[in-house]
Amino acid sequence: MELLVEDANVITMAAEAVPARCLLIRDGRIAAVGPAGPVRAAAGPDARVVRLDGATVLPGLIDAHCHVSDVGYLAAGADCRQPSAPDIPAIQARLRQAAGRTPPGAWVTGSGYVEYQLREGRHPTRSELDVAVPDRPAVLYHTSLHACVLNSAALAEAGFADGQPDPPGGAFGRDAAGRLDGVLFEGPMFALFERNFRADLARMSAAQRAGLMQGAGQHFAALGVTAACDADVRRDTLTAFAEADEHGALPMRIYGLVVHDQVDWLLESGLRGRHSDRLTADAVKIWADGGMSSRTAAIHGRYPVPPFGSGILSFSRDELTGMVGDFAARGFQVCIHAQGDRAIETVLDAYAVVLGDGGNPRRHRIEHAGAMYPALTARAARLGIAVASQPGFLSTLGDGFAAAFPESSDQLYAFASWRRAGLPVAGSSDAPVITASPLTGIRDAVLRRTAAGQVLGPGERVTAQDALDMYTRAAAFAMHREDEIGSLEPGKLADFVVLDASPLDVDPERIADIQVLATVVGGTPVYQPSGVFHG
Ligand SMILES: [Zn+2]
Repeated sequence: MELLVEDANVITMAAEAVPARCLLIRDGRIAAVGPAGPVRAAAGPDARVVRLDGATVLPGLIDAHCHVSDVGYLAAGADCRQPSAPDIPAIQARLRQAAGRTPPGAWVTGSGYVEYQLREGRHPTRSELDVAVPDRPAVLYHTSLHACVLNSAALAEAGFADGQPDPPGGAFGRDAAGRLDGVLFEGPMFALFERNFRADLARMSAAQRAGLMQGAGQHFAALGVTAACDADVRRDTLTAFAEADEHGALPMRIYGLVVHDQVDWLLESGLRGRHSDRLTADAVKIWADGGMSSRTAAIHGRYPVPPFGSGILSFSRDELTGMVGDFAARGFQVCIHAQGDRAIETVLDAYAVVLGDGGNPRRHRIEHAGAMYPALTARAARLGIAVASQPGFLSTLGDGFAAAFPESSDQLYAFASWRRAGLPVAGSSDAPVITASPLTGIRDAVLRRTAAGQVLGPGERVTAQDALDMYTRAAAFAMHREDEIGSLEPGKLADFVVLDASPLDVDPERIADIQVLATVVGGTPVYQPSGVFHG
């Protein structure tokens, strides 16, 4: 089976870029790419020809850090994002609606709010959730998934009571009288999310679970994403991915970062390593600190905004060094969430001990690296650490970063400095924290403009070409797949997207508005709203 794609503006992202108009696909891989003459000559007489009338073809976009299964899971609950849910009454109305379609026994679930974007400028409280859902447990997840709010029934079912001290690695929000106000930060929030997700998955049939993963994959495919690292894979989600994969229902390639406490299970399950060319699990995920938008990232100094404090560090330097050493010895790539400078320093200390002078052949990573300031960047570069970060945070959450880091906001997410220092910087979304759209991320890497119009760190803007590199070649490198994906070259898998304009040519303001006309994985269209490849 051959497919000849003609009359396209093909941006190959190959190291030796040649102007290309044509792409020949054979058996799911790229057989030839280049000018029309030689590519047509390479095609057999039966090749199916599709003319794209000058549309742009890019390598399939890669999201190096997101939460594919969480996107699928939360899509079933109430959408409580701003600006569409501008205030707490709007959130209450959406939770009330969600209650009507939530099966008995399950918690009513909403997600996506950012407290400083709400008209009230604060987290909703348990009593406000009680008004919406008085008679059964309800949870409202903060968009960071580092905080949430519970109603009274949920607090009771979770076993949280007034007067209880803060749990290790987390905190409870409290009202003026010291009673729990329903807000949970970090540790208890993660445990709760995992418990609820697991319980809801267990309630589903295998077909429903595979359908959840397929739906999530279709969401990404519609945005031009052909491969992603799911940065939070556990027993039940990896099993569900495997079920979907076995039924040919995964429309994208998944590289699972398996949560550190599930590694023993992974080794017993037989799911470690390459499951198929759509599913791989060979990396371990650890969280070193909290989130930037929840102001729980572990920093030196104190936040000038609520909940104040210096953030939350999940592990000591020695604990982290022990974990990294153990997983590295078992051959895993280690990917550590670290946002605040204090957390990044601790992670680099651990990596330095484990790596010594031996380089970083397993490509251990720092996830996010928000406050990786120049001295830390230089250390990371010396160790050869890869970074997976999120330019799209800047337009959605950047005003909150500016408030939380009034002295250093220009140095946050320093993509240009990191690339200059020689770090592989992979682009990603952290969806569902923000939109999974890589074109939004590419625009934000170029513009760095917040919702209020402030440019955060003008010196850290990168060119559209470099931004595109982050979501293709660099992301493929960060997941050990650069021999197969990330550029359009003969022999590589035929993963590509068709766009109505080139992000390298349009006004940067317009990059996020470019339309995805088709997404193709392994030579098979997985998204094509106007039927580009039909007929
Ligand atoms: Zn994440």
